[in-house]
Amino acid sequence: FIGRNRNMSKKSIQRTAIRISFLGDAGCGKTSIINRFIEDKFTDVHLTTIGLEKNEKKMKMKDGTQMKVILWDTAGQERFKTMTKTPIKASQGIVIVFDLTKKVTFENLDNWVKTIKENNNNAPIALFGNKSDMIEEIEINNEDAEKYAKEKDMFYFETSAKENVNVKEGLDKIIEESYEKAEGEIGTQLKKGKNNKKKRQMLKQEEIKKK
Ligand code: GDP
Ligand code: MG
Repeated sequence: FIGRNRNMSKKSIQRTAIRISFLGDAGCGKTSIINRFIEDKFTDVHLTTIGLEKNEKKMKMKDGTQMKVILWDTAGQERFKTMTKTPIKASQGIVIVFDLTKKVTFENLDNWVKTIKENNNNAPIALFGNKSDMIEEIEINNEDAEKYAKEKDMFYFETSAKENVNVKEGLDKIIEESYEKAEGEIGTQLKKGKNNKKKRQMLKQEEIKKK
Protein backbone atom coordinates (compact mmCIF):
# COMPACT_ATOMS: atom_id res chain seq x y z
CA PHE A 1 0.00 0.00 0.00
CA ILE A 2 1.42 3.33 -0.98
CA GLY A 3 1.12 6.29 1.32
CA ARG A 4 2.51 9.80 1.22
CA ASN A 5 5.24 10.79 3.55
CA ARG A 6 4.90 14.41 4.64
CA ASN A 7 8.63 14.88 5.06
CA MET A 8 9.33 14.17 1.45
CA SER A 9 8.48 16.19 -1.62
CA LYS A 10 4.84 15.93 -2.65
CA LYS A 11 5.61 13.93 -5.74
CA SER A 12 7.62 11.23 -4.01
CA ILE A 13 5.92 8.13 -2.76
CA GLN A 14 6.87 5.69 -0.07
CA ARG A 15 5.51 2.32 0.77
CA THR A 16 4.28 2.18 4.36
CA ALA A 17 2.45 -1.13 4.46
CA ILE A 18 2.55 -4.61 2.97
CA ARG A 19 -0.73 -6.40 2.49
CA ILE A 20 -0.93 -10.20 2.39
CA SER A 21 -4.21 -11.87 1.43
CA PHE A 22 -5.14 -15.29 2.81
CA LEU A 23 -7.12 -17.52 0.48
CA GLY A 24 -8.22 -21.14 0.46
CA ASP A 25 -11.23 -23.25 1.31
CA ALA A 26 -13.07 -22.68 4.58
CA GLY A 27 -11.81 -24.71 7.52
CA CYS A 28 -8.20 -25.06 6.35
CA GLY A 29 -6.84 -22.82 9.10
CA LYS A 30 -6.42 -19.34 7.64
CA THR A 31 -7.70 -17.57 10.75
CA SER A 32 -5.71 -19.89 13.03
CA ILE A 33 -2.47 -19.20 11.14
CA ILE A 34 -3.05 -15.45 11.37
CA ASN A 35 -3.81 -15.67 15.11
CA ARG A 36 -0.70 -17.74 15.67
CA PHE A 37 1.46 -15.24 13.83
CA ILE A 38 -0.02 -12.06 15.34
CA GLU A 39 -0.76 -13.14 18.90
CA ASP A 40 1.03 -16.48 19.17
CA LYS A 41 -2.06 -18.31 20.35
CA PHE A 42 -4.29 -21.14 19.18
CA THR A 43 -7.90 -21.85 20.07
CA ASP A 44 -9.96 -24.76 18.84
CA VAL A 45 -13.17 -22.80 18.66
CA HIS A 46 -13.66 -19.90 16.33
CA LEU A 47 -16.54 -17.58 15.90
CA THR A 48 -17.14 -16.89 12.25
CA THR A 49 -16.01 -13.37 11.69
CA ILE A 50 -18.16 -11.03 9.71
CA GLY A 51 -16.49 -8.38 7.65
CA LEU A 52 -12.87 -7.46 7.80
CA GLU A 53 -10.69 -7.95 10.80
CA LYS A 54 -7.66 -5.82 11.50
CA ASN A 55 -4.71 -8.16 11.57
CA GLU A 56 -1.64 -5.98 11.70
CA LYS A 57 1.89 -6.29 12.87
CA LYS A 58 4.81 -3.87 12.73
CA MET A 59 7.82 -5.62 11.27
CA LYS A 60 11.34 -4.75 10.29
CA MET A 61 12.35 -5.79 6.79
CA LYS A 62 15.83 -7.13 6.07
CA ASP A 63 16.96 -3.72 4.77
CA GLY A 64 15.93 -2.17 8.09
CA THR A 65 12.72 -0.52 6.89
CA GLN A 66 9.83 -0.60 9.35
CA MET A 67 6.63 -1.83 7.68
CA LYS A 68 3.06 -2.27 8.76
CA VAL A 69 2.16 -5.79 7.69
CA ILE A 70 -1.56 -6.34 7.16
CA LEU A 71 -2.79 -9.92 6.97
CA TRP A 72 -6.10 -9.88 5.16
CA ASP A 73 -8.27 -12.79 6.24
CA THR A 74 -11.16 -13.87 4.07
CA ALA A 75 -13.53 -14.44 6.95
CA GLY A 76 -16.39 -16.65 5.85
CA GLN A 77 -16.40 -15.19 2.35
CA GLU A 78 -14.49 -18.03 0.78
CA ARG A 79 -17.47 -19.22 -1.23
CA PHE A 80 -18.01 -15.85 -2.80
CA LYS A 81 -15.12 -15.55 -5.17
CA THR A 82 -16.15 -12.04 -6.21
CA MET A 83 -15.58 -10.83 -2.65
CA THR A 84 -11.98 -11.94 -2.70
CA LYS A 85 -11.12 -9.93 -5.82
CA THR A 86 -10.57 -6.64 -4.03
CA PRO A 87 -8.08 -7.95 -1.46
CA ILE A 88 -6.23 -9.92 -4.15
CA LYS A 89 -5.83 -6.82 -6.30
CA ALA A 90 -4.67 -4.70 -3.38
CA SER A 91 -2.11 -7.21 -2.08
CA GLN A 92 1.63 -7.34 -2.47
CA GLY A 93 1.67 -11.03 -1.54
CA ILE A 94 -0.71 -14.00 -1.24
CA VAL A 95 -0.94 -17.06 0.99
CA ILE A 96 -3.12 -19.98 -0.14
CA VAL A 97 -3.93 -22.44 2.62
CA PHE A 98 -5.10 -26.01 2.09
CA ASP A 99 -5.77 -28.76 4.62
CA LEU A 100 -3.29 -31.65 4.46
CA THR A 101 -6.00 -33.96 5.82
CA LYS A 102 -8.62 -33.07 3.17
CA LYS A 103 -7.71 -33.99 -0.37
CA VAL A 104 -10.50 -31.91 -1.84
CA THR A 105 -8.91 -28.72 -0.51
CA PHE A 106 -5.73 -29.64 -2.44
CA GLU A 107 -7.74 -30.36 -5.58
CA ASN A 108 -9.40 -26.96 -5.29
CA LEU A 109 -6.05 -25.15 -5.46
CA ASP A 110 -6.29 -24.76 -9.26
CA ASN A 111 -9.38 -22.60 -8.76
CA TRP A 112 -7.63 -20.38 -6.24
CA VAL A 113 -4.57 -19.99 -8.43
CA LYS A 114 -6.81 -19.09 -11.37
CA THR A 115 -8.68 -16.47 -9.33
CA ILE A 116 -5.36 -14.96 -8.23
CA LYS A 117 -3.86 -14.88 -11.72
CA GLU A 118 -6.97 -13.19 -13.08
CA ASN A 119 -6.63 -10.38 -10.55
CA ASN A 120 -2.97 -10.01 -9.73
CA ASN A 121 -0.02 -11.12 -11.79
CA ASN A 122 2.67 -9.58 -9.62
CA ALA A 123 2.20 -10.77 -6.08
CA PRO A 124 4.41 -13.66 -4.98
CA ILE A 125 2.42 -16.63 -3.65
CA ALA A 126 3.11 -18.99 -0.77
CA LEU A 127 1.25 -22.27 -0.43
CA PHE A 128 0.68 -23.58 3.10
CA GLY A 129 -0.31 -27.21 3.64
CA ASN A 130 -1.77 -26.83 7.13
CA LYS A 131 -2.55 -29.23 10.02
CA SER A 132 0.73 -31.14 9.71
CA ASP A 133 0.25 -32.18 13.36
CA MET A 134 -2.58 -34.56 12.35
CA ILE A 135 -0.08 -37.17 11.23
CA GLU A 136 -2.52 -40.10 11.08
CA GLU A 137 -4.97 -38.28 8.82
CA ILE A 138 -2.66 -36.73 6.25
CA GLU A 139 -3.83 -37.32 2.66
CA ILE A 140 -1.38 -35.18 0.72
CA ASN A 141 2.29 -36.06 0.80
CA ASN A 142 5.07 -33.52 0.79
CA GLU A 143 6.38 -34.53 -2.65
CA ASP A 144 3.07 -33.94 -4.46
CA ALA A 145 2.54 -30.61 -2.75
CA GLU A 146 6.12 -29.48 -3.46
CA LYS A 147 5.74 -30.48 -7.10
CA TYR A 148 2.47 -28.61 -7.47
CA ALA A 149 3.87 -25.50 -5.82
CA LYS A 150 6.92 -25.55 -8.07
CA GLU A 151 4.76 -25.86 -11.18
CA LYS A 152 2.80 -22.78 -10.17
CA ASP A 153 5.86 -20.84 -9.00
CA MET A 154 4.83 -20.79 -5.34
CA PHE A 155 6.84 -21.24 -2.13
CA TYR A 156 5.67 -24.29 -0.20
CA PHE A 157 5.46 -24.79 3.58
CA GLU A 158 3.92 -27.59 5.61
CA THR A 159 2.47 -25.79 8.60
CA SER A 160 0.69 -26.38 11.87
CA ALA A 161 -1.03 -23.42 13.48
CA LYS A 162 -1.80 -25.70 16.41
CA GLU A 163 1.75 -26.85 17.11
CA ASN A 164 3.33 -23.68 15.79
CA VAL A 165 5.30 -25.30 12.98
CA ASN A 166 6.58 -23.22 10.04
CA VAL A 167 4.05 -20.42 10.57
CA LYS A 168 6.70 -17.81 11.29
CA GLU A 169 9.14 -19.22 8.70
CA GLY A 170 6.49 -19.26 5.95
CA LEU A 171 5.12 -15.82 6.70
CA ASP A 172 8.53 -14.20 7.14
CA LYS A 173 9.45 -15.57 3.72
CA ILE A 174 6.36 -14.37 1.84
CA ILE A 175 6.39 -10.98 3.59
CA GLU A 176 10.04 -10.33 2.70
CA GLU A 177 9.58 -11.55 -0.89
CA SER A 178 6.48 -9.40 -1.32
CA TYR A 179 8.21 -6.37 0.13
CA GLU A 180 11.26 -6.76 -2.08
CA LYS A 181 9.21 -7.27 -5.22
CA ALA A 182 6.96 -4.31 -4.47
CA GLU A 183 9.94 -2.09 -3.67
CA GLY A 184 11.56 -3.11 -6.93
CA GLU A 185 8.48 -1.96 -8.79
CA ILE A 186 8.44 1.42 -7.04
CA GLY A 187 12.12 1.80 -7.86
CA THR A 188 11.42 1.18 -11.54
CA GLN A 189 8.49 3.61 -11.56
CA LEU A 190 10.56 6.31 -9.91
CA LYS A 191 13.45 5.88 -12.28
CA LYS A 192 11.03 6.43 -15.17
CA GLY A 193 9.44 9.51 -13.59
CA LYS A 194 10.79 13.01 -14.16
CA ASN A 195 10.03 14.66 -10.85
CA ASN A 196 11.84 12.38 -8.50
CA LYS A 197 15.35 13.73 -8.59
CA LYS A 198 15.74 13.52 -4.82
CA LYS A 199 14.43 9.98 -4.54
CA ARG A 200 16.54 8.90 -7.51
CA GLN A 201 19.61 10.25 -5.79
CA MET A 202 18.67 8.37 -2.64
CA LEU A 203 18.24 5.13 -4.58
CA LYS A 204 21.61 5.68 -6.25
CA GLN A 205 23.29 6.22 -2.91
CA GLU A 206 21.72 3.03 -1.61
CA GLU A 207 23.05 1.13 -4.61
CA ILE A 208 26.51 2.51 -3.99
CA LYS A 209 26.27 1.53 -0.33
CA LYS A 210 25.40 -2.03 -1.32
CA LYS A 211 28.60 -2.22 -3.40
P1 GDP B 1 -10.42 -20.99 8.23
O1 GDP B 1 -11.85 -21.23 7.92
O2 GDP B 1 -9.55 -21.30 7.04
O3 GDP B 1 -10.15 -19.64 8.79
O4 GDP B 1 -10.00 -22.08 9.34
P2 GDP B 1 -9.92 -21.89 10.94
O5 GDP B 1 -8.68 -21.16 11.32
O6 GDP B 1 -11.20 -21.34 11.43
O7 GDP B 1 -9.73 -23.40 11.39
C1 GDP B 1 -10.72 -24.39 11.14
C2 GDP B 1 -10.59 -25.50 12.19
O8 GDP B 1 -9.35 -26.18 12.05
C3 GDP B 1 -10.63 -24.99 13.63
O9 GDP B 1 -11.34 -25.92 14.42
C4 GDP B 1 -9.18 -24.93 14.03
O10 GDP B 1 -9.00 -25.09 15.41
C5 GDP B 1 -8.61 -26.12 13.26
N1 GDP B 1 -7.19 -25.93 12.92
C6 GDP B 1 -6.62 -24.84 12.33
N2 GDP B 1 -5.31 -25.01 12.17
C7 GDP B 1 -5.01 -26.24 12.66
C8 GDP B 1 -3.79 -26.99 12.78
O11 GDP B 1 -2.70 -26.58 12.42
N3 GDP B 1 -3.90 -28.23 13.33
C9 GDP B 1 -5.10 -28.74 13.77
N4 GDP B 1 -5.08 -29.97 14.30
N5 GDP B 1 -6.24 -28.07 13.68
C10 GDP B 1 -6.22 -26.82 13.13
MG1 MG C 1 -11.50 -18.04 9.00
